Amino acid sequence: MRKQKGLLIVLSGPSGVGKGTVRKELFSQAGTNYEYSISMTTRAPREGEVDGVDYFFKSRVEFEELIEQGGLLEHAEFVGNYYGTPLAYVNETLEAGRDVFLEIEVQGAAQIREKLPEALFIFLAPPSLSELQNRLIGRGTETEDIIQKRIATAREELEMMSLYDYVVENDEIQKACDKINAIIVAEHCRRERVEKIYLSMLRGE
Ligand code: ADP
Ligand code: 5GP
Repeated sequence: MRKQKGLLIVLSGPSGVGKGTVRKELFSQAGTNYEYSISMTTRAPREGEVDGVDYFFKSRVEFEELIEQGGLLEHAEFVGNYYGTPLAYVNETLEAGRDVFLEIEVQGAAQIREKLPEALFIFLAPPSLSELQNRLIGRGTETEDIIQKRIATAREELEMMSLYDYVVENDEIQKACDKINAIIVAEHCRRERVEKIYLSMLRGE
C-alpha cells in the first residue's frame, strides 16, 4: 500500500507551560518515531544550549534575510526575539513519509493553521495560571523584567486555545507525554487521512 505522507505535529502553548520539557522527554523515550524540527532564533543561547541542537542561533540580519527568501514555514517575534521553523527540513521530512514535531509559540501555530490546516495542533495547558507563573520564575533563565513580559503574554496565549484540535494539561510530564503519543496514534487512524490511500489502492494505483 502507498505510504502516507508524514504528519505535521504542532505542540504549542504559553511560555513556561513546559513545552520544551515535554518535548525533550518525548524524544528521550525509546520508540519515538517522529522527527524534531530544530527552530531558528535570534535569542542568545542559554547556558548549556548548543547551536544546531537546541536552536540554530542567528543574528537579526541573518534571520530577516531568511524571512525574505521564504525560507521559513512560520516565524514570530516573541518578547523581543525572532523564532522560526526552517521550511526545507519540514517539507523534505514530510515527503519522506516521516512525522515532524514542532514545538512553537502560539502566533507561529496560528500561521501554520492557515497554511497547513491538515496539521495536528496540540495545546499544552498549565494546571493553573499561578502554576504557570511559578514555572516561569522557577526556571530561572530570564530577568525579572522578561519574566513579567512572558507572564503578560501567557494570558493572551491561553486565549488562543480555540485554534487547537486537542488540549493536554501538563500536570505530570509523563502523563502529558502519554496523552500526546496517544493523540498522534489516533490521528494516524483518522478516516480523512487514510481513506485516500485505500481509494487509490482500489483504483489499482
Ligand atoms: P516552555 O518551553 O513552555 O517555555 P519549559 O519546558 O522551559 O517551558 O518549562 C518551564 C519550567 O517548568 C521549567 O523549569 C520546567 O522544569 C518546569 N516544568 C515543566 N513541566 C513541568 C511539570 N509537569 N511539572 C512541574 N514543572 C514543570
Ligand atoms: P524560549 O526562548 O523559551 O526558548 O522560547 C520562547 C518561545 O518561543 C517558546 O514558547 C517556544 O516554544 C517558542 N518557539 C521556539 N521555536 C519556535 C519557532 O520556530 N517558531 C515559533 N513561532 N516559536 C518558537
